Amino acid sequence: MADPASPDDRTPQSDHARATPAYDMGYLAYHDKRFSGPPRSGWHKSKRETSGMNVSRRLWDQRQGLRRDYEAVHGTDPTQWPVRHPGVVLDAVQWIAHSACLGCEWMDRQGVYMKESGWRERALAAAREHEESWHR
Ligand SMILES: [Zn+2]
Repeated sequence: MADPASPDDRTPQSDHARATPAYDMGYLAYHDKRFSGPPRSGWHKSKRETSGMNVSRRLWDQRQGLRRDYEAVHGTDPTQWPVRHPGVVLDAVQWIAHSACLGCEWMDRQGVYMKESGWRERALAAAREHEESWHR
């Protein structure tokens, strides 16, 4: 596997990408958040690196899509946004929804089970809590 940080395959970055580090590699941050601690077993380790990584990627992709929508309305400069940490709910992967943030790499690790009633409200509440924790 190629080292993403090696100078040889580093692509030139726009000013915007430089201003938001890990813009493209953010799914790795999500992955680390979802799976902290040592793997419980060899099976767990390989599972984490295959389907686990896919889930992290899909969640991150959804977050990036939501961020683009947000930027289309509020602009690409986060310092000009109405709130610096807009909270969102990532529900692209069944059956666990995760609260997340468009302004940073925060994500609610545990998430909420989407078959329980009121899951979206609970996920939104966690997202709002993150959003507001930056304005207290
Ligand atoms: Zn945030």
